[in-house]
Amino acid sequence: ASPKPRVCYWFRTDLRLHDSPALAAALNLKPEALFPLWCWDPNVNACCSLGLESGVNRAFLQYVYKHRVGVHRFRFLLESMTVLSDQISAIQPNSKLLVVRGEPVELLPILWKKWGISHLVFEKDPSAYGRRRDAIVLKAAKLANVTIVSVQGHHLYDPELVTLKNKGKPTMTITSLQNIVKKMGNVPKPVASPKELPLPLLKGSTKTERKDIFLELSNALRGTPIFSGNCLEGDTAVDLNSASLGGERHLPVTCYETVDGGDALFSVPTLESLGMSEDKEAKIKGGEVIALKRLATLCDDSKYIATFSKPKSSPAQWVDKPSTTLLSPYLKFGCLSIRKMWWDVEEAKQRYIGAKTEPPENLNGQLLFRDMYACAEYAIGDAFGKVRGNEICRYMDWNLPTVYDESGVEIVPRPPGDSVSESRLKAFKDGQTGFPWIDAQMRQLKQEGWMHHLGRHSVAAFLTRGQCWISWERGAEIFDEYLIDWDPCSNPGNWMWLSCSAFYAQYFKLYGLVSFPQKYDKTGALVRKYCPELAKYPDAYIYEPHKAPANVQKQAGCIIGTDYPYPILDEKNSKDENMARMKACYEAKFYGNSKEVLDGTANAL
Ligand code: FAD
Repeated sequence: ASPKPRVCYWFRTDLRLHDSPALAAALNLKPEALFPLWCWDPNVNACCSLGLESGVNRAFLQYVYKHRVGVHRFRFLLESMTVLSDQISAIQPNSKLLVVRGEPVELLPILWKKWGISHLVFEKDPSAYGRRRDAIVLKAAKLANVTIVSVQGHHLYDPELVTLKNKGKPTMTITSLQNIVKKMGNVPKPVASPKELPLPLLKGSTKTERKDIFLELSNALRGTPIFSGNCLEGDTAVDLNSASLGGERHLPVTCYETVDGGDALFSVPTLESLGMSEDKEAKIKGGEVIALKRLATLCDDSKYIATFSKPKSSPAQWVDKPSTTLLSPYLKFGCLSIRKMWWDVEEAKQRYIGAKTEPPENLNGQLLFRDMYACAEYAIGDAFGKVRGNEICRYMDWNLPTVYDESGVEIVPRPPGDSVSESRLKAFKDGQTGFPWIDAQMRQLKQEGWMHHLGRHSVAAFLTRGQCWISWERGAEIFDEYLIDWDPCSNPGNWMWLSCSAFYAQYFKLYGLVSFPQKYDKTGALVRKYCPELAKYPDAYIYEPHKAPANVQKQAGCIIGTDYPYPILDEKNSKDENMARMKACYEAKFYGNSKEVLDGTANAL
């Protein structure tokens, strides 16, 4: 008889046990052992420089440079990993999430060998980076005689299948996506959560106690340099928080655990051990348990779900009582299954008697947008996240574009751009533009790791075509650093939308820096919260404090130019100027893959 499968289940985009089609596939193999693995991938969750010197990692180096992860996303991820580990232990007390560090393409083959793995199972990661990484893993698996089982579960529909059905073209509208998926049947119903899990046992092991099992696993890895502790003494971590782009610092990380106990070897690291600390309690907490509770509470209110209308939701409400679901961080890390969300929303809608909203503005529409960007990214690949080489991205002569050398490789460290744009970009990032609506949103992003969708609209339009004329790539990088829900498809996709580079073309439609927030809140509560120096301003001046007479400024205890900046530019002049630029760029009809863009002659626009 052929030996029973020995499965390594690799968690990546799916930090949950509920509705996990990939985990269900792993269990369907009826394995004799199951190793729940988290591989701390420095390319995705850049923190650890282990192996950066090796050949294979060089190929990813650019990705690391482009990709900074702020403290909120790290914290959320660590919390989600801890919860997942606890969930595993809840159904199998002698198992837990086995956390290892380093390049998956290097670590996995070592683990397969040491653990006698026959199958590697994971949720399919259709992002460009995920595909590249998994192609290398697949090659290594073939050599090691390990069977790979990859199952879609991160989207409503498999982006690969949608793209196939769309003849390799990107989905540019939600209607085109809807037309394609109509023929693919309903969103799959959620699968049952596992009730038990096999133990992570070495071949022939008879251990039964958790302590013994982990000690044995840890001993099996002794002598393997990358495994002699979760973190090697004298090891370095890339401090991407403080790094100026391209100039990352390597901080020494002290070994926070030893190999003495197996438990310690595989444990979830702490923020501190990654060289990060947090000064205040986070509001958005990670993990499957909170995600499911949040979804259930929202769905209890069938009216909220059935009448949800994105354009009517207020960006002037923040994380304490958001007007939208605030489920994006959980969907990003797969703490919440998107298909469960879809079907729970459907069920709540059925319970509601009365007029219901429809896509694109209802919740189904929001989830479809997520799929639309994932499918578009699938079709475009790596170029989706940038202007250069991106066939769907209109070329604009933005200030501070990403710069490449003759062979098309991004120049790192980045040469400084014109000083006015550099200082505007800094003011934008720091929430110091002198426009309270923008500053409050950007400070909220930095403090909480989240911003309402229409807040994201306002700031993205402001930085690009609205006022600053700075490339959307630079704005997308700031979001990458600060957003908990950062996603390689939705982030660049939405930035292209808001800058009218792709997906959306009505560049004459803009968000007034005073008139837009006033539609939602004339009292400026969001500004008062995140720009406390303006808290005492009368409502009439809250969105334009520089217009307040000197005595009002004095009474409010905040003098413009001293305690809060003057606006960094003139809203109306910059808008008119940029509108003319947009018109010229649209007429020139250059795209990211135009010859003129690739050879640099498009700069003469
Ligand atoms: P809800 O309104 O409650 O929507 C439910 C879910 O639908 C969200 O959780 C999200 O998964 C999905 N969704 C909603 N709108 C969109 C959209 N426009 N595009 C893609 N998915 C959507 N969303 C991300 O998940 N990651 C990003 O990196 C990201 N970057 C963005 C950058 C810009 C410039 C803009 C304008 C939007 C971006 N969005 C991104 C989309 C959107 O703003 C967030 O998904 C949403 O605000 C999250 O809040 P929520 O969970 O309350 O959303």
